Parts: sequence; C-alpha cells; structure tokens
Amino acid sequence: MRLERFEFSQIRMGVDTPIVVYAPSESQAIEACRAAYSRISQLEQQMSDYRVDSELNTLCKEAVGRWRRVSRELFYVLWRAHRLAQQTDGAFDPTVGVLVRLWREARRTERLPDAQTLQEARVRAGYRLMELCPHRRAVRLRAEGMQLDLGGIAKGYACDHALRVLRRYGLTRALIQMGGDIVAGDPPTNAPAWRIALAEGGETTLVRGALSTSGSTEQFVEIGGVRYAHIIDPRTGLGLTQLILARARARDGITADSLATAAAVLGAAGIPRLQRHYKGVQIEVREG
Ligand code: AMP
Ligand code: MG
Repeated sequence: MRLERFEFSQIRMGVDTPIVVYAPSESQAIEACRAAYSRISQLEQQMSDYRVDSELNTLCKEAVGRWRRVSRELFYVLWRAHRLAQQTDGAFDPTVGVLVRLWREARRTERLPDAQTLQEARVRAGYRLMELCPHRRAVRLRAEGMQLDLGGIAKGYACDHALRVLRRYGLTRALIQMGGDIVAGDPPTNAPAWRIALAEGGETTLVRGALSTSGSTEQFVEIGGVRYAHIIDPRTGLGLTQLILARARARDGITADSLATAAAVLGAAGIPRLQRHYKGVQIEVREG
C-alpha cells in the first residue's frame, strides 16, 4: 500500500505539538491524529498544573493529610516521578510546584522572592511529603499548600500515548513532538530512521524510541546578571543558574523526558547514577 506523509500541528500542554504520520489517505491521517490529540488533551486534563480543575490540582487540594484515590494514568506518572526522586535524592522532584510558581512570578516581575517567601515555599516542597499507596492507587500529601508539578515528565508520557493511539489506527510510521520531547515509531517509508534537528546545530536520528532535551538555555529569567532557568535546583529552591543542556534517549517518552530533566539538575556527574538505575538509556550532558 502506498503511504503519504502528513503533518499536523496543535498546541497541547502549552507547547507546539507536531505530529508527522504516514497514512494511506488524508482522511485516515486526520482521523487518527484527531484521536491522538484528543488523547493528549485528556492526559492534560489529568496532569496539568496550569488548569485549576485538572485532576492533579484537585488532588493537591483534597489529599492533604488524607488518602485520595486517583486515575490509573495519574498514579503511574506520579509513581514514576516519585521513584526517580528517590533515585536522585530529590534532584528530580515532582513536588517543586510552589517553587515553580515563585519562579514564574520572578519571571513576570523580574525580582527574586524574598528570603521568607522562599523559605515558606521550600517547606512545602520535597518528595518525602508525597506518599503513594500502589495497592489503593492513592496519594496523600503531608503539608498544607503543596503543589505537584509533572512538567518534567508528562509530555514524554503523553507522546507515548499519542503514538499508541496512532498505532491502534494502523499508522505505525509516526513521530510526535511536544516541545523538547520526541517519540518516534517506525521510520518514514523512504528512510531507515527519522532525522531530528538539534537545538545546538546538527542532527541525529531516531526510530522506535524517544529523545528528550532539557536544560537552562531555552526558558530563563535574568535577574542581577544571573540567569535562572525554569528547572528548579532543589538545593537552592531557585531556578538552575548553570548553563546546561541535557539529552536522554530511551525506549519510551516518559523515561527520556524525566531523565533529561533529572540530568539537567544533576549535571554530567549524575550520568553514571542515572544509568545504573535505567539500563540502556543514553544520556548526554553539555555544561557551560
Ligand atoms: P523539562 O522541560 O522536561 O526539563 O521540564 C521542566 C519542567 O519540570 C518545569 O517547567 C517544571 O514544571 C518542572 N520542574 C522544574 N524543576 C523540576 C525538578 N527539579 N524536578 C522535576 N520537575 C521539575
Ligand atoms: Mg523533561
């Protein structure tokens, strides 16, 4: 069967989300991609910290001091995030939401939070304050005013699911990108692999796997001559100040996305430790 290339782009989870797919006809491509985008929207409704009524934000309000049962998807992503937090001693930490909010405010006002505000936020962050019960698929938070944040892991997971939807429609030659996170299925009809342009120049290839890029070079605010990136350094509670670009290649998007973010915090020195926990994942870090 002759396949043609189709390309779509929509905004999901606050970022451009292009899908490239090979399909026998335009109508089949449209139908499958519509279903894939709608699957991403559904996950966004579960995991977004921007949407007041997302499942995640409802959980933040209702799980303080008591167990709250959550959806299978949300539980899985929280569980993966929590496990990575344990493995990295909190360098990756899905409970940094209040600190992320302070960073967003600093970006808006171009002023850092004062010491007391920062301190008050820091006591409401820390992965040990989030308890998970796999048996009941429930979550409990140990401090008032906590904000969970899956911004470092949910996009990769959403790409994984979008690819699955396309496969269910019989379209296996596909690539999905959400910001710095890319997940690819089978290659284009006329090539052995997808070609991916790199932010720092040059290109790489990807086939049946995931590639995520993270770091301090894209999103940051500059205050007093210092750049604070959108990734929180849990040691200071502020955005990362070192120049760093981290890239992870893995079998699936949830792994690549979360490990790229973790590597951005840990730096090159953290690579062996991440690779010990995640066999077969390739991680590359450029500093300075
Ligand atoms: P990424 O672009 O995938 O590296 O993820 C960055 C996003 O992850 C930020 O915009 C925050 O939503 C969230 N985040 C910030 N700092 C951390 C951290 N230390 N651990 C986990 N997630 C974080
Ligand atoms: Mg990430």
